[in-house]
Amino acid sequence: MMIQTIHDQWNRPMRDLRISVTDRCNFRCTYCMPKEIFGDDYAFMPKSELLSYEEIERFATIFAKLGVKKIRLTGGEPLMRRDIDQLIKRLYTIDGIEDIGLTTNGMLLKQYGKRLLDAGLKRINISLDALDPEVFGQINGRGVSPDIILERIEYAKQLGFRVKVNMVVQKGLNDNQIVPMAKYCKEQQLELRFIEFMDVGNDNAWSFKKVITKKEIIELLSKEFVLDEVKKDYFGEVATRYRYDDSDTQVGFITSVSESFCSSCTRARLSSDGKLYTCLFASNGFDLRSLIRSDATNEELEEAIKGVWQKRSDRYSDERTENSSKKYKKINMSYIGG
Ligand code: SAM
Ligand code: SF4
Ligand code: SF4
Repeated sequence: MMIQTIHDQWNRPMRDLRISVTDRCNFRCTYCMPKEIFGDDYAFMPKSELLSYEEIERFATIFAKLGVKKIRLTGGEPLMRRDIDQLIKRLYTIDGIEDIGLTTNGMLLKQYGKRLLDAGLKRINISLDALDPEVFGQINGRGVSPDIILERIEYAKQLGFRVKVNMVVQKGLNDNQIVPMAKYCKEQQLELRFIEFMDVGNDNAWSFKKVITKKEIIELLSKEFVLDEVKKDYFGEVATRYRYDDSDTQVGFITSVSESFCSSCTRARLSSDGKLYTCLFASNGFDLRSLIRSDATNEELEEAIKGVWQKRSDRYSDERTENSSKKYKKINMSYIGG
């Protein structure tokens, strides 16, 4: 297969594809799907609106032809999509796809871990925002204990997955968990990634005041550990990484707010209902599902995707202000895929 490289208006190539496989989730994290909004009567998408695995595979093949090398499956909670391992198996057969990752809250890993491994998956990012049961229970909106997630993390490690832990940090909510989480993950040789609280969607009451920046986290960590910065591995790598001076374990930062990285953003996003987004903070997506369901040929799908990427000029995080964040209509993270 001839692989092309396509560039957007800022000369950024398309390299990564994040696929949201469902808009549903078994958690109600305050920063993502607050339960006041995603209540019992919330209307999630009916199955007919979700892309089927055949459709996702067909799109992924075209994205790979246009230069995508890495795929991340996310959501919502990706393990709530039935037989997700079957999708992973299919994606691994695509020419040009070098790496597949999965981001999960971990809750269903006991049921699916082995199947994911058999499907060929090697890397899993598990989200955990606190070790304190009260704090974590409050954040996940379901009262789930951190012990349950720690057990799943251990299980994933034992199965042989490379596991990273994602922690979204919010001022006054879980900033007292930064050092305990760092200590725990260092001891367990887990790479912890601190994620700055972002204004994704319009429902999570975001404000600059609630953001703890990488700089603030490093100041806290420096009281306990000595950290050496690690060079980025490749263009478009999102995390800034450090290594503890007395161990091989690393710690990473996703600095979407304090040190935005739009200039090297190579990520396209496919929502669970088949819309193509070129930015996490976009207001509108391009409806690829209508195209695929109206019998478009692969060439027509390819032209459509190319056209969208070549027009892309998004750099939301570079331009973010408190005011623009409130005024601007954005898509929720559970729908677009984090
Ligand atoms: N349900 C899975 C999970 O939680 O890992 C996958 C989907 S979730 C939307 C993907 C990642 O986005 C998680 O690590 C989550 O913590 C992060 N996230 C969600 N909302 C966020 C926000 N407002 N700011 C920063 N990160 C956020
Ligand atoms: Fe669910 Fe993940 Fe969003 Fe939490 S961050 S509500 S686990 S999709
Ligand atoms: Fe990429 Fe948009 Fe995030 Fe900038 S704001 S890094 S363009 S997803």
